[in-house]
Amino acid sequence: MKKNEIAVVKIEDIGVNGEGIGKVDGYTLFIKDGIIGDVVEAKVMKAKKNYGYARLMRILEYSKDRVGAKCPVARQCGGCQIQELAYEEQLRFKEKKVRGNLERIGGFSSELLESVMEKICGMDNPFYYRNKAQFPFGTDKNGEIITGFYAGRTHQIIPNRECALGRKENEKILGIIVDFMNEYRIRAYDETTGKGLVRHVLIRFGFTTKEIMVCLVVNGDNFPHSEKLVDNLRKVEGMTSITYSINKENTNVIMGKNIRLLWGQTYITDYIGNVKYQISPLSFYQVNPKQTENLYQYALDYAGLTGEETVWDLYCGIGTISLFLAQKAKKVYGVEIVPQAIEDAKRNANLNEIKNAEFFVGKAEEILPEYYENYAREHEGEKAYADVIVVDPPRKGCEETLLCTMVEMSPKRIVYVSCDSATLARDLKYLCENGYHLKKVRAVDMFPNTVHVETCVLLQRRTM
Ligand code: SAH
Repeated sequence: MKKNEIAVVKIEDIGVNGEGIGKVDGYTLFIKDGIIGDVVEAKVMKAKKNYGYARLMRILEYSKDRVGAKCPVARQCGGCQIQELAYEEQLRFKEKKVRGNLERIGGFSSELLESVMEKICGMDNPFYYRNKAQFPFGTDKNGEIITGFYAGRTHQIIPNRECALGRKENEKILGIIVDFMNEYRIRAYDETTGKGLVRHVLIRFGFTTKEIMVCLVVNGDNFPHSEKLVDNLRKVEGMTSITYSINKENTNVIMGKNIRLLWGQTYITDYIGNVKYQISPLSFYQVNPKQTENLYQYALDYAGLTGEETVWDLYCGIGTISLFLAQKAKKVYGVEIVPQAIEDAKRNANLNEIKNAEFFVGKAEEILPEYYENYAREHEGEKAYADVIVVDPPRKGCEETLLCTMVEMSPKRIVYVSCDSATLARDLKYLCENGYHLKKVRAVDMFPNTVHVETCVLLQRRTM
């Protein structure tokens, strides 16, 4: 097929990025927003030798799994990829994605997976689950201030103040900010000229405490007339923290390095389970608190703690999993590469009067091997001991040096929490070739309407 050619295609499969896949005379077309069962008219945008990418122009026959989009800009916006796919089918897709990777990359048999995979944990309501949103600000061609979300893979702002994944309060807060900017002639930032003040607005909401945080990211050292803005924002019910962050760099990084207080306090408080966390605009915090609690509960169950265990929590971030586990373990060691996250972890431990958690700053693949070697040196060759090791690495998974030390430490159980089932499968293959059994796998839908999926896995040491 050639560029600009138009074809009628039946969508027969779904790709890893949620796109529809169909064939025309053996030639594969990837069609964003096509859903299995649809018959669509599509225009080829990019043609390679054996496959191409096409744009969905018209739906000729609707799939039984197609649902109306909740959000008016669902297709243009880069946030959701599969909002028009029925939620039950989204769950099926995600479970299949995890299973497929474990089979193909991990080399696990389908019989084994059949017996170890537990039902995916979905949400009752797959909307309005996010506690955090970052809205870019800009100006449209009529000179009006706009805010919304970036289109997929670009920095074009799709105006939308009522994202169906975020809190309804966001719309009101954005309205107050846009009105303020219009009244005081404060301009939105322009990436091409580097001029204009307001770049982004970060809004966070504590689901348990109902506390709201607003942080404006500005391209300037001062924030003129900010007291007028504060007067209106503080009237929003739950408003707890109003701050700004200076970012004058020409960069895709959203936040500046420091936070300045405008009103209230610099953080909000929220809970996961019964653990309390202080969250500042720069802290990492899971965006779906409901599913986070479910995910951590699975991790806790898999860890099988009785109160006597020594546990390592590698890639611990602000210590969320560590503190969750510390309540049921003798001792928890957390390791994380970002120093500010470890400061948050220590503060959160104090806040909850948790005394059996200790945190280290550094790379997991350096800290754990060093600890292991030093321990042996200081204890006449005795092995450093762990009952359980939990890992929750970023998408690229764990380095082999780390997996190797984990195997040497030979904990009874390893709990692997993953946001990328391909690297998860690769790492599980290594661990299962070196003394571990795959016992349980549970996918958790942390990000409904997107193609992302989290997985929690239990490995058990083989008896020797
Ligand atoms: N377990 C945490 C965070 C998981 S996200 C939670 O549930 O909240 C993964 C974390 O790994 C991030 O905080 C990131 O900063 C950290 N990280 C990335 N590479 C690392 C490495 N090589 N060693 C240790 N931590 C790392």
